[in-house]
Amino acid sequence: MTGSADSDRGRAGAAVASRGAVELLGRGVAELEALAESLGEPRYRGRQVARWLYGHGVDTVEAMTDLPRAFRDRLRAASQITYPRLRRAQDAPDSSATKYLVELADGQRVECVLMRFDDGRLSACLSSQAGCAMGCAFCATGLGGFSRNLGPGEILGQALVIRAQAGVRIGHVVFMGMGEPLANYDAVLRAARLLASPQGVGIGMRRLTISTVGLVPQIHRLAAERLQLTLAVSLHAPTDALRDRLVPANHRYPLADLIPACRAYAAATRRRITFEYVLLAGVNDGPAEARALAALLRGVHCHLNLIPVNPVAGIPFRRPEVPVVMAFAARVRRAGFPVTVRIERGTEIQAACGQLRLADGQGRPSRWTPPPAVTP
Ligand code: SF4
Repeated sequence: MTGSADSDRGRAGAAVASRGAVELLGRGVAELEALAESLGEPRYRGRQVARWLYGHGVDTVEAMTDLPRAFRDRLRAASQITYPRLRRAQDAPDSSATKYLVELADGQRVECVLMRFDDGRLSACLSSQAGCAMGCAFCATGLGGFSRNLGPGEILGQALVIRAQAGVRIGHVVFMGMGEPLANYDAVLRAARLLASPQGVGIGMRRLTISTVGLVPQIHRLAAERLQLTLAVSLHAPTDALRDRLVPANHRYPLADLIPACRAYAAATRRRITFEYVLLAGVNDGPAEARALAALLRGVHCHLNLIPVNPVAGIPFRRPEVPVVMAFAARVRRAGFPVTVRIERGTEIQAACGQLRLADGQGRPSRWTPPPAVTP
């Protein structure tokens, strides 16, 4: 894909509206093989289509030039390719991040972000829902409510738009944009598999991270899939009393259920869990909380990301002073946990954790937590 912000791909996506046509973007390789077969072609033609879609990012069947002309004609008549339409791209002044506002076929808008790290790593942060129903206290997304789940093509299409617009090879993907990924389990997992697969985008499962506020049944379900992706659990508080206030999902899935689910996930996948802990001045950043956190996570195969909260208009939390952050980190580290304090990328363009905000008045900012950046 090439083109301006108002891309040809986007126009194609918004314009293609043929009723009953099979949407190609988001289809797995096996499905594309079956589709090719149903159109009278050998199954390997489906793998060719996948390569064009996910490897090259083409937005028309016509561009799949190694397919026989007759098959292209049949495929074009039977299918459509609907990419998110890029509405705006905004670079951080220091070029550490670019935020993209994309529009889906029904007009819903979500944001995604490309993060650039000093060591050259490139990571895409994708949205999984339009809006969010979880209502975390420090994230203004909850104020805007929930609109709908995104489909798998709409989710991985964000990565393809970023890749094409930035002209880069994406090394990592984090499902940490708008929405609770595990509340849209099937679509997120389908997108993850296509992003990871060599026959898809080819990023690799170990370079994907899915976050959750702690939906316990879905954590168990994900554990059973034995995938090598990273699970990031948004913990944010070491006690139920405090977590009930910050993460309303805790009422339904309290720590007595969540932590054992995390242990089970780590045991089943042999993957270290990442716990996200947003530091809120005077709320959860004191010595007592640090001690309680260490006690809560004792024996869990995990890594802790501490995220000093980002300023978000309308959200009544302050970022702790640097010495408070470092003291908290030191306490947890002394208890034996690997700890990272994140330096947020893209704060200036409202693309950092808790800042994603639709710029068109829909008013649904979202949490955004990039991968670890620095260890104090
Ligand atoms: S932090 Fe995540 S799960 Fe919580 S309201 Fe924001 S987008 Fe939803």
